[in-house]
Amino acid sequence: MTKLRSLERLLPPPNPHWVGNGFNVHHFFPGNGGPSQERMSPFLMLDYNSLADLPPSDLPRGVDVHPHRGFETVTISYKGLIAHHDSAGNSGVIGEGDVQWMTAGAGVLHKEYHDLDFTRRGGPFQMVQLWVNLPAAHKMHAPHYQEIRSASMGRLDLKSGYVEIIAGSCSGISGPAATFSPVHLYNLHMEAGDCFELTFPQHYNASMLAISGKAVLQGVRELPQDHFALLGNDGDDILVECKVPNTTILLMAGEPIDEPISSHGPFVMNTHGEILQAFEDFRSGKFGTLR
Ligand code: MN
Repeated sequence: MTKLRSLERLLPPPNPHWVGNGFNVHHFFPGNGGPSQERMSPFLMLDYNSLADLPPSDLPRGVDVHPHRGFETVTISYKGLIAHHDSAGNSGVIGEGDVQWMTAGAGVLHKEYHDLDFTRRGGPFQMVQLWVNLPAAHKMHAPHYQEIRSASMGRLDLKSGYVEIIAGSCSGISGPAATFSPVHLYNLHMEAGDCFELTFPQHYNASMLAISGKAVLQGVRELPQDHFALLGNDGDDILVECKVPNTTILLMAGEPIDEPISSHGPFVMNTHGEILQAFEDFRSGKFGTLR
């Protein structure tokens, strides 16, 4: 027996703000009138750079060296090339449809930039950064980096479009991302007439962001481009119907990590003491070096 989840929140994109000089993001949560980290668990933060046409530039665009501890940063490129370097020695450039899944774990320094050749050329740019919490048992895991190419993702065909599975599984098809708790992350690439229905346990938190086009959620409300929807925990079923071409919906779902959250800036731990320790370890150089 399945029951449709309600549509708990439908949020238009908040006014964007700059992260460094490279990412002009709509910050959907936490804060900004959006849902709390506890309500979104295991997801901690969603930043979305909606589609922009960037002029050519010789000035690097991005965020310089900064630390993270206690969670994972997941960067999805929808348009444009994004480069990453970290103090664990990992680096890479992702393009359209690719994902960087960085486990900060015990602590890492990284910098996030537009690829320099892309910056010089200019062009369309659109991306998401999602923060995924780590269970307490894994917060001090060694830093880890997964570069996930679009071509390596799980793929489930719809009538005309398809579902790309980054993490988790859907109808027996798995995504390549290794996660520390149950996380499902899909891109629904839908065409007019496509319909996608799936079920997660009722206590899983589930939300969606319309990257392009629009879709009708739960048979009741339209999710327009650049809008965010949070589904209720009053049912288990999710229904997405598409009536226009070229629609992409990012679907985020997962089992809540039922542990206290203490977060400050780039660190997300369980207690305030662990946050103070993170600042101390950062100051004393335990996150390594990155130029
Ligand atoms: Mn970062």
